[in-house]
Amino acid sequence: MSLAFAADRVHVRAPGKLNVFFDVGDVRPDGYHPVASVYQAVSLYEDVIATPADDFTVSVSGDVDLTGVPLDGTNLAVRAARLIAHATDSEMGVHLDIRKGVPVAGGMGGGSADAAAALLACNELWGAPLSTADLHDLAAELGADVPFALLGGTAVGTGRGDELAPALARGRIDWVLVTDSDGLSTPAVYGRLDELRAQADIAPARGTPAVDAAVLQALRAGDAASLAAVVHNDLQAAALALRPDLAVVLADGRDLGARGGLVSGSGPTVAFVADDPGHAAEVAASLIARGYEALAVHGPVPGARVIG
Ligand code: ATP
Repeated sequence: MSLAFAADRVHVRAPGKLNVFFDVGDVRPDGYHPVASVYQAVSLYEDVIATPADDFTVSVSGDVDLTGVPLDGTNLAVRAARLIAHATDSEMGVHLDIRKGVPVAGGMGGGSADAAAALLACNELWGAPLSTADLHDLAAELGADVPFALLGGTAVGTGRGDELAPALARGRIDWVLVTDSDGLSTPAVYGRLDELRAQADIAPARGTPAVDAAVLQALRAGDAASLAAVVHNDLQAAALALRPDLAVVLADGRDLGARGGLVSGSGPTVAFVADDPGHAAEVAASLIARGYEALAVHGPVPGARVIG
């Protein structure tokens, strides 16, 4: 199929995510862990600007530590662009200019947001040949968190996390994030969880992963205090085993007045629930005064969208 350019520059913004709740089942023979996740997209963004090119190239800049972000074909955004080119029989290339706002290897799905943004940007650049459902399918091929970065908002993810159902969430939840440029490898954290379970050092998986109804109820009510009491992440024990200092971060945040906190995804980002924007700003300032990198964000925010 030969397609005409529909645009000569497409700018897409996609959000990072928190896992408000994360139930992880036992590893399956194919190596995947079944999960039940409640995702929330938060106000930290990846910007991807796509322009026509002869080949597939990428440049990366941003306010976060960029160590570890590949600049070759292994970059998830480039993989996304190649996948959509293949799916549409396009022979066009693209340059992807990524501006990162989500910590790298932070457990907030920054690479997944880049992939979602690249899918949407290339689809627009090449005349929107694919439907939203097609884009979702390609996103799931790229990684378990990529479909959520397309969808955004608040959603329940089952299967590998890629079978999504939007969840009702009233109002906004204010979060305080403690970020850490010394990232954690997601496969290493899952591997540690398997070991801890095999050695019976922690409680076994609870059978088929399922979302705690109290989490959905707190989100429906927009009740930060109730939500703080029920946030949960099965990967937290493994992240803490690899990075014991994160337990100190969790204790310090509570000590400084945050409501319940948890490790986000595979970490090392730690997220605390705050009562309102003012409370979030106060807690973030107190954490910074204690030497942490902290910032206030809020969710839910929309998924990947064209902004120019
Ligand atoms: P996960 O989605 O697995 O929770 P994460 O949020 O912890 O991941 P990412 O920032 O997405 O972490 O990056 C994880 C690893 O993926 C990086 O260390 C890097 O090697 C690789 N990677 C590939 N493409 C990208 C990209 N566009 N941005 C960041 N990392 C990328």
